[in-house]
Amino acid sequence: MNECLFCKIVGGEIPATIVAEDDQFIAFRDIEPQAPTHVLVIPRTHIASLNEATDAELMGRLLLFARGVAVKEGLTERGYRVVLNTNAEAGQTVFHIHAHVLGGRPMRWPPG
Ligand code: 5GP
Ligand code: ZN
Repeated sequence: MNECLFCKIVGGEIPATIVAEDDQFIAFRDIEPQAPTHVLVIPRTHIASLNEATDAELMGRLLLFARGVAVKEGLTERGYRVVLNTNAEAGQTVFHIHAHVLGGRPMRWPPG
């Protein structure tokens, strides 16, 4: 676990621009933003991906926490996207579960 990049952000070993946090989650700006707002929401506890998630309450709270980030960023009226990339073909590169909150520009569908 201590080799996990996002666990290091939770532990304060790697700096991040935190936009919101509580006792269960941290939201911080993506280092390589793909939209004017690009925030990652992670649980403080290590879960590798959605495939390993078992705690329904934690996952529900994660989604509502992501909504709270969208509220804070002023995105709820115009729209935003919440994305969980899971495993290789979806483009997951960091194996500590995270929700991307993306907004501030029009989004295309289907995603690439
Ligand atoms: P994934 O590709 O796993 O869905 O998303 C991982 C995200 O983490 C990427 O969007 C990437 O830009 C971001 N990221 C990788 N390393 C760091 C870092 O050290 N700090 C921050 N803030 N974001 C990172
Ligand atoms: Zn981790």
